[in-house]
Amino acid sequence: MKRIKEKKRLAKKIARERIDILFKEAEAAGSAGEFSLAERYVELMLALSRKYRVPLSKEQKYRICKKCHSFLVPGKNATVRLKKGKVVIKCEKCGNYKRYPYK
Ligand SMILES: [Zn+2]
Repeated sequence: MKRIKEKKRLAKKIARERIDILFKEAEAAGSAGEFSLAERYVELMLALSRKYRVPLSKEQKYRICKKCHSFLVPGKNATVRLKKGKVVIKCEKCGNYKRYPYK
């Protein structure tokens, strides 16, 4: 039993690391204007997150459009506004809004 748990823990750790790497790749691709490539990285991130039940970090969630899975790059394919103490991010691809409290 212990072995299985240990294996699972390790698999999660590896998935977490892969997600972080993919996030960096997506960010690099997005900044370079390669949005379809960035989107592919996002899909891979989400697949890993689902498969291993590893949640994405807050920062990662803020950068991904829930609706169309675009990697959001403010000033390129996303607009960021401050409204009533909240950060509002609009995905320019599908028009979806994302809000979170501004600290
Ligand atoms: Zn979108």
